[in-house]
Amino acid sequence: MTTLARQVRAAILQIQPYVAGLSDDTVRQQFGGQAVVKLNSNENAVGPSRLAIEAILSELEQIHHYPDPSSDLLRQAIAEFHGVQRDQVLVGNGSDEVIRLISETFLSEGDEVLVPAPTFSQYQAGAFLMGATVRRIPLSQDFQYDVDAFLSAVTNRTKLLYLCSPNNPTGTVVSQHALSRLLAQLPSHVFVVLDFAYNDYARDETRAVLTPKLVEGGRVIALQTFSKLYGLAGLRVGYAVASAAIWDYVHRIREPFNVNRLAQRAAAAALMDDQHRTLSRLLCERGMDMYGRLADVGYVVIPSQANFVSVRTGDGERTYQQLLQEGILVRKGFAGMEEYVRITMGLEEENEQCILALLRLSTVSS
Ligand SMILES: *Cc1c(COP(=O)(O)O)cnc(C)c1O
Repeated sequence: MTTLARQVRAAILQIQPYVAGLSDDTVRQQFGGQAVVKLNSNENAVGPSRLAIEAILSELEQIHHYPDPSSDLLRQAIAEFHGVQRDQVLVGNGSDEVIRLISETFLSEGDEVLVPAPTFSQYQAGAFLMGATVRRIPLSQDFQYDVDAFLSAVTNRTKLLYLCSPNNPTGTVVSQHALSRLLAQLPSHVFVVLDFAYNDYARDETRAVLTPKLVEGGRVIALQTFSKLYGLAGLRVGYAVASAAIWDYVHRIREPFNVNRLAQRAAAAALMDDQHRTLSRLLCERGMDMYGRLADVGYVVIPSQANFVSVRTGDGERTYQQLLQEGILVRKGFAGMEEYVRITMGLEEENEQCILALLRLSTVSS
């Protein structure tokens, strides 16, 4: 072990850096002038709301001023949108920051965190950062949540239980019924973090949703983001709704200016844009219908409630490389999902290009 490795915190040594989908700068560098179909980061192909862009333009002259440290206008807009109080809302530099803040607030070395498997990697990253232990609770064969599996993994060291609904990368949801049962049986020392990053795309009427009642009991933290449906991934804004008592602790460690001026304005404006929301959902729904064609030629397509779909091709890495040859970027490499690629719903012509490529690959391999 090097001196440096001995001097950094032990918890850091076990952390693998986050592997993001290729950024557009990287894509431009690697593909030159070639058109690239970017279906790898669950971004909104519609783009941002016009209202958000206008809000940014009218705020630009003010960027020599620090932002509002408490993001009051944005938190007020979010609170009204969900019918909760402003002090029940925390905003962050993406929900990634909110996950980190929750981890820093709750977790000590030796504490346990339950996460679904497979799922979004940031829950475990937050736990590792604090030296906590992660227990992965596998989804069922058909990628559904198994409440009893979570319940039986709880110990007296369990602090946080994460659920992602719809889950990234499977697109499957937690039902309201399953959630109620979980909350009724869960010991009072376990807090539940529900990540609703994709829930605005979901149509399943039985799914859990963010309501004032959900967070009333003080044990549920509901995460949301402006990065997906709202098309503001580049600005970094996310939020969470929970009891104000939880946020009293989190505010002690939050960086004072964690959400920048442009992001605060744009997010508040985007929240008001019903037209953009409707159009974005519609595009996603149409895309999802198109991907149904893959099932006809024998691909397993996991039924998804999100703006992405995971498709079993047998060898995700190989499919990733093959699609890359055609300038189509998808996501691979979720632990336990090595046979799959995850594809974001794009514009109609982008979906068509990706589907045609996969149809062609299926005839080549059979
Ligand atoms: C993309 C994503 C987020 C959003 O993260 P931001 O930091 O807000 O961009 C959160 N949770 C899941 C499951 C995601 O896939």
